[in-house]
Amino acid sequence: MNVLVINCGSSSLKFQLINSDSEAVLAKGLCERIGIDGRLTYQPAGGEKEVSDKAMPTHTEAIQFVIDALTNEKTGVVKSLDEIGAVGHRVVHGGEKFASSVVITDEVKKAVEECNDLAPLHNPANLIGVAACEKLMPGTPMVAVFDTAFHQTMPEKAYMYGLPYEYYEKYKVRRYGFHGTSHSYVSKRAAEILGVPYDQTKTIVCHLGNGSSISAVLNGKSVDTSMGLTPLEGLVMGTRSGDIDPAILEFIAKKENLDIAGLMNMLNKKSGVYGLSNNLSSDFRDLDAAAAEGNVPAKIALEVFAYRVAKYVGSYVAAMNGVDNIVFTAGIGENSGPVRADVLSYLGYLGIEVDAEANKKRGEEVLISTPDSKVKVLVVPTNEELAIARETVALL
Ligand code: ADP
Repeated sequence: MNVLVINCGSSSLKFQLINSDSEAVLAKGLCERIGIDGRLTYQPAGGEKEVSDKAMPTHTEAIQFVIDALTNEKTGVVKSLDEIGAVGHRVVHGGEKFASSVVITDEVKKAVEECNDLAPLHNPANLIGVAACEKLMPGTPMVAVFDTAFHQTMPEKAYMYGLPYEYYEKYKVRRYGFHGTSHSYVSKRAAEILGVPYDQTKTIVCHLGNGSSISAVLNGKSVDTSMGLTPLEGLVMGTRSGDIDPAILEFIAKKENLDIAGLMNMLNKKSGVYGLSNNLSSDFRDLDAAAAEGNVPAKIALEVFAYRVAKYVGSYVAAMNGVDNIVFTAGIGENSGPVRADVLSYLGYLGIEVDAEANKKRGEEVLISTPDSKVKVLVVPTNEELAIARETVALL
C-alpha cells in the first residue's frame, strides 16, 4: 500500500509518499508560505527536485498541489488517487487522551481539538491538514500519530511538576514530552541492530536537532523525557532556553519591560545556542566554524549544550538504575562527531569507550563505542515519516 505521510505546520506542510511493502520513498516535498503566497517543492525518487510558486491561500490548495504533483503524467509517481491507500498525519499533542496512534474519526478530531490549548501553534494546523485531506481524498482512511503518545508510559513521579496539584486536576498541567515517534523508532532500531531484546533493554535516546530532547526507555517503554508540558523544557536547543530558574522571568520582565508574550518569544526564539553565541547562529556548523576561529561565545554555547546533554544522560542512568545503550539521532546527533565526543567525555564513569574512527561517520547507522565499552553507543538516523507510515499500515 502507498501511504501519504503529512506533517502540517501553520504555514507549511511536509509530505512523503511511502510504499509500505518496500518501505521506499516514492516522492517527497514541502509546501511553504501557505496563506502568504505559496511555494511547492517536489522530488520524485531518483528525479530532479522541482520548486514552483503556487497560490496557496489555505492548506486545501496546498494538498491539491501535492496530489497534482504526485499524479502528474510526467513527474508523478502514481496514476491516480486510488493508488494512495491511506494518509498518516503527524499530530503534535495528544494530551492524556492518546497513548498510541489512532484511526481518525469525528470523535478523534474532537479529542485532538480539546488538546489545542496545550499546543496552540501546532494542533490547529494538524487538524487543518486532516480536514484538507478529507475534502480532497474522501473515503481514504487516515491515521493520527502523536508526538506525545510514546511518553504516556511515564510514571507520575516523572510527569508531575512540583506545582499545586489542582493545576493538574483542572488544566492537566504535567510533563508530556515530544519527539515520541523518533524516540520510539530509534530505541527500537538500536535494539534490532545490536540483536538484543527491546523489552529487556535500558536505552537513552539523545534526539539532538534544532529542537532537542532526551528520553529514558526502559524495557521498550518511555519512563522519562526532557521536554515537558511544551517543547521548551529540558536541553539547551537551537533557539529555546530549556530549563532555567523560573524566577529569571520576573527579573528580566522588570529589567527589559517585557510582557508574557515578550518573555515567551525570548525563551523560544532568542535563547538556546543562538542566544548564548551572542546571536551568531543556531546552526552547529556555524558554531563549530566560529569556535575553531576562537569565537568565545560560540565555544561557550557548544560547551553548555554538551554539558546539559551529559547531565540529562546521567540523570536517566539514575532513573533506570543503569543503561545498556545510548543512541544519538537527529541533525546534530547524526552529523556532529565533535558534539557526540564532547557529551561522551563526561560519561567515562559508565565504562564508555569511544571508537574515535567510527565517531567520524555521519548520517548512517553506526556503533561508535569500542567492543570493550560497557555501554553500547550508537548513531541511528531517525525516520519519523517511515515510523508514521508503519503505524498507519499497522492500524489499518
Ligand atoms: P529539526 O527537525 O528539529 O528542525 P534537525 O534534526 O533537522 O532539526 O537538525 C537541524 C540541525 O542539525 C541544524 O540546525 C544543525 O545545527 C544540525 N546539523 C546539521 N548538519 C550538521 C553537521 N554536518 N554538523 C553539525 N550539525 C549539523
